[in-house]
Amino acid sequence: PLCCFQVIRCRAAVAWAAGKPLSLEEVEVAPPKAGEVRIKIVAAGICRTDETLLQGHFPNVDFPVIPGHEGAGIVESVGEGVTSVKPGDKVIPLCVPQCGECYFCLNPESNYCLKSHLSETQSLLPDKTSRFTCKGKQIHHFLWVSTFAEYTVIPEYAVAKIDAAAPLDKVCLLGCGFSTGYGAALNTAKVKPGSTCAIFGLGGVGLSVVMGCKAAGASRIFAIDINKDKFAKATELGATDCINPQDIKKPIQEVLTEMTGHGVDYSFEVIGKADTTIAALASCNMNTGVCVMVGELPSGSVVSVDPMLLLSGRAWKGSLIGGKQLR
Ligand code: NAD
Ligand code: ZN
Ligand code: ZN
Repeated sequence: PLCCFQVIRCRAAVAWAAGKPLSLEEVEVAPPKAGEVRIKIVAAGICRTDETLLQGHFPNVDFPVIPGHEGAGIVESVGEGVTSVKPGDKVIPLCVPQCGECYFCLNPESNYCLKSHLSETQSLLPDKTSRFTCKGKQIHHFLWVSTFAEYTVIPEYAVAKIDAAAPLDKVCLLGCGFSTGYGAALNTAKVKPGSTCAIFGLGGVGLSVVMGCKAAGASRIFAIDINKDKFAKATELGATDCINPQDIKKPIQEVLTEMTGHGVDYSFEVIGKADTTIAALASCNMNTGVCVMVGELPSGSVVSVDPMLLLSGRAWKGSLIGGKQLR
């Protein structure tokens, strides 16, 4: 129908400049071009990464921008050549695209596609133009997702079709937070049954790591946060020990080493700070310990590490969006 090829006027939260609060604006959303999908966003989540973007600490982005990289919605219209989804389908936008053709997409062991923001900008769609305008100005996309808009346009290969019965307000967390944490435990660390785990940071992502460790059969799960209000939820999800580093005199890595005798088998940094990055690395055991970095430090940060921590056998890995292809 003709309506599908019209510009849609709707509301969106626009970040005009780094360090400025979001402002609610009326924006124009152009129709999808070839290979693109226009989606009505029904639910969006907020992850700490959106805050990092707002502060101007996220790499490879341009302002003004519509943030939001976690959401779920319904396909409103599709551009020429789109075959995997049709109007009316429920979908989750993927903040890591899955082009299906690059070196990394062809390897099921990897998930960071060469079309992602680490390789090229996703501030504009692949044809280097934006579908958003506001007050006569071009507004940039964020990770090609921009879920803080009522309608958004995304390349087909960054959209996953989901079950028609899926509750969109719940499954929107699969777009980032839940997949990231759960996948870090199962895909990146590959937590073994009976092992010990420590999770630094109990936000939405850290709690999803707790769930992943529990599902993998970990026997002891240490949940660490400076906000004790997070402990009830962590315990409900499987944490066996909750520790507030501000309540103890010794550094947390020493306490964890004493409590386990040698350090945990797996540790996860899910905060995004330099000191907790080092503490998490030093908390896993020196032979077979695996530390997974999930938290995002401000772009350009440098963390200095005593090489002895790695020399004895520890492994230090990163994990983005759970380490698995989602499409
Ligand atoms: P959040 O802000 O909801 O949670 C962070 C938690 O860490 C809070 O509970 C806070 O109290 C706690 N905390 C802060 N400082 C602490 C300290 N010094 N010691 C112990 N606890 C401390 O954040 P979130 O949305 O769960 O995201 C967590 C991190 O993961 C962020 O850095 C985010 O950017 C990153 N992230 C990474 C990926 C990825 O693909 N790797 C995806 C999503 C989010
Ligand atoms: Zn790819
Ligand atoms: Zn996120």
